[in-house]
Amino acid sequence: MPAVLQPVAVPQKSLSDYTHICGRELIEEVRQLAEPLKGQRVMHVSATAFGGGVSEILYTLVPLMRDVGLQCEWQVIYGREEFFNATKLMHNALQGSPQDLDEEQWRTWRRYNEMNARELPCGWDVCLVHDPQPAALHSLVPEKARGWLWRCHIDLSAPNPETIERLAPYMTSYPASVFHMADYVPSQMDGGVNIVPPAIDPLAPKNMALSPEDASYVCAQFGIDVDRPLLCQVSRFDPWKDPLGVIDAYRIVKEKLPEVQLALVGSMASDDPEGWDYFNATIAHADGDPDVHILNNFNNVGAIEVNAFQSHADVLIQKSTREGFGLTVAEAIWKARPFIGGAVGGIPLQVQDGLTGFLVDSPELCASRSLELLADPELGRTLGRRGKEHVRANFLMPRYLRDYLRIFTELLEG
Ligand code: UDP
Repeated sequence: MPAVLQPVAVPQKSLSDYTHICGRELIEEVRQLAEPLKGQRVMHVSATAFGGGVSEILYTLVPLMRDVGLQCEWQVIYGREEFFNATKLMHNALQGSPQDLDEEQWRTWRRYNEMNARELPCGWDVCLVHDPQPAALHSLVPEKARGWLWRCHIDLSAPNPETIERLAPYMTSYPASVFHMADYVPSQMDGGVNIVPPAIDPLAPKNMALSPEDASYVCAQFGIDVDRPLLCQVSRFDPWKDPLGVIDAYRIVKEKLPEVQLALVGSMASDDPEGWDYFNATIAHADGDPDVHILNNFNNVGAIEVNAFQSHADVLIQKSTREGFGLTVAEAIWKARPFIGGAVGGIPLQVQDGLTGFLVDSPELCASRSLELLADPELGRTLGRRGKEHVRANFLMPRYLRDYLRIFTELLEG
């Protein structure tokens, strides 16, 4: 791996293509906000270009920022295993795990931030730093950009106190920050806070309309019997996503409905060393059940396949026990399928219990809601249709772009 930040190549996208899905008014508003910002140099810095929600967002946000006239770049920081081991621990601790980093791990985190800070090119109007992995950049090289913004994608509502205390000086050094929800803003933050949830790209292969025939064709290729009911969760193999709890819920459903199947679809992220261990733990928990299909991106499950599973499944589940936002939730609901999610973090923002899906807090409740939806497809269709409109109104990328342009305007004026 090269010892410098790596630029990420992104496709071209055009904001006008979104007009028919998001409405003319919003697209016009975005263009007006972008006009005075044309030519501004914006740098996104994140920990990985592959796997997880941040990279998913940036593959659309960066091209759209370019399309409206910003000179926008995205670079991924350099890190080796020792760094990502430390940052995964940090991520878990910030989401509430009792284990803080030890002194050596904090030193490792800081050392890699110093290395990346040295390599970061200069002359940006806005440097937008994503998540805690590169969070020290601003305090190390504030002169490299005119405006700095820290974007937190994780749930900081109940962090490990030692970890957040240690990270606080780095977070508070930014003149502005962005959190998904007010609940996530640590008490140490003192101004410059923006509350903006993320969004999905309705035109990306993962979310574009797929016919029921194409969706079932794809699922059949992964061994799914498309004539039998299917429960599905799409997410990284991570304890907070609770794939083991989904298997427990499936087992309860199976007692009443023996023909039910489960698909757990999860990509492995390059900055997530725990992923493989948890993937193996999930396989062990499934205990050889031929109706539990555990798939990942190394089995060729890419964006279209995720789309197919979400479009075909009878019930979509995101049974997380902690969830910063959960792009998979908006992605699932966008397919207008019945949805069940854990009542945590960003999920209730996206799902109104009983109106656009169901919220649950145990495998038992997840199972009984699944049985209810499987027994009553009309209920699922009604929830799914309403859910899709909720996503259209709140969680599509042009709205997110608009919110960033507003923040950039304030930051640069300030
Ligand atoms: N994802 C994927 N393939 C998978 C599992 C997940 O492409 O097998 C994508 C998923 O569709 C979503 C992102 O990874 O766009 C995960 O983002 P989310 O906010 O749900 O969770 P995170 O992984 O960031 O905690």
